[in-house]
Amino acid sequence: MDFNDTPEEAAFRAEAVAWLEANAERRQPGDTDNPLNEATTPEMVAEAKAWQKKKADAGWACITWPKEYGGRGATPMQNVIWNEEQAKFRTPRDIYGIGIGMCGPTILAHGTPEQRKRWIPKLISGEEVWCQLFSEPSAGSDLAGLRSTAVRQGDDWIVNGQKIWTTGAQFCDWGVLVVRTDPTVAKHAGLTYFVVDMHAPGVEIRPITQINQGRGFNEVFFTDVRIPDDQRISEVGNGWAVSITTLMNERQSIGAGGGLGALEDLIDYAAALEIDGRPAIEDGHVRERIADFVVKARGLKNTSLRTLTALSQGRMPGPEASMGKLVGAVLQQEASSFAMELAGAAGGLLDAGQLPEATLWAERYLSIPGLRIAGGTDEVLRNIIAERVLGLPPDARADKGIAFKDIPTGPPSKK
Ligand SMILES: Cc1cc2nc3c(=O)[nH]c(=O)nc-3n(C[C@H](O)[C@H](O)[C@H](O)COP(=O)(O)OP(=O)(O)OC[C@H]3O[C@@H](n4cnc5c(N)ncnc54)[C@H](O)[C@@H]3O)c2cc1C
Repeated sequence: MDFNDTPEEAAFRAEAVAWLEANAERRQPGDTDNPLNEATTPEMVAEAKAWQKKKADAGWACITWPKEYGGRGATPMQNVIWNEEQAKFRTPRDIYGIGIGMCGPTILAHGTPEQRKRWIPKLISGEEVWCQLFSEPSAGSDLAGLRSTAVRQGDDWIVNGQKIWTTGAQFCDWGVLVVRTDPTVAKHAGLTYFVVDMHAPGVEIRPITQINQGRGFNEVFFTDVRIPDDQRISEVGNGWAVSITTLMNERQSIGAGGGLGALEDLIDYAAALEIDGRPAIEDGHVRERIADFVVKARGLKNTSLRTLTALSQGRMPGPEASMGKLVGAVLQQEASSFAMELAGAAGGLLDAGQLPEATLWAERYLSIPGLRIAGGTDEVLRNIIAERVLGLPPDARADKGIAFKDIPTGPPSKK
């Protein structure tokens, strides 16, 4: 691919930079952040909403989405350019990654015109926030094994069950929900996809405190929650196909970050930190470790350019997004661990009042295991790469073709 912008792309980039310069502050060296970048307090949510509204009013929100709903109708390549430039500025922590990255594209792809009109404009303007209600205590990697149910009653569906790890549920207005509507067929065939009102009676949200001290995700319980049938997105029993759209968008949006900013932050940190009266970055051992990270980061960057090539030629990116997330998350973890080592005893601090720079690295280090699990664990991504990139035989699937209700659960019977 040609690494330079076309004249049209350069003009678009200049326009984006001009707007960002006028409306946000540029990031400074050492301006590091939690890689999950999630909002966890009402103040952070208010800041994120104000920023989204500002972008929407100026035509910079959801730029690839159709103009008729408030998008800009821009190309995927322009979206890449916008994201590259926006990342250079300080912006509020995220509350729309799931709504804009996953729920919106699913409704645009599978929703009726009425459903799109009802939900997409308020997602773009940031008025309504969305979450993803997929994972359950016994269904994560094996999502199709989920047990929450919906039963038809007149024009409504009655939902019961539990979801877990629901990012941002405590701030959300709507959620995309996959539940079992038929346990008598094979597990992938009995699912249906809905949109649920997070303020409906019977929805109970309990925040979970994480190891990084944040409260980004939640348990969500459904007790006789009523969902009108006009909030069903898939045909009854075809929820898996719609879920795949959400999951493909999830992997792509998580993989897109790549985490290369962490490395630039590490170089800035090593330049600012002193070891034995000299900047740490002048130490041979430090330079060797950083050089090692840079080599890996360069490989990642070149791999991500393949995604860009696909986008610029109008093709959908392939399974290389899985490689980006797998390698990028491990690289971020190694870089954060090394930054903590450099800080010595202060490296384990989790008290921003004492030493903010060191604390950010510790917070970052504790957040990355989440990045290695969300949107497909390392092992699941390796399976994808093995099967779809290397053409190796698929995992053995013992429950294939068996009705969900007949899949054995619990310990084998002693009879
Ligand atoms: C920060 C964060 C945010 C999240 N946000 C959301 C959200 O908003 N909404 C939502 O629905 N979910 C969310 N999740 C949940 C996430 O999708 C699941 O955690 C993930 O799919 C893994 O499922 P699990 O936790 O049930 O682990 P399991 O699937 O039980 O996996 C346990 C272990 O077994 C391994 N394993 C599983 N299957 C295989 C296999 N076939 N081959 C080899 N190894 C395997 C896994 O790699 C892992 O090490 C979030 C998770 C995190 C960490």
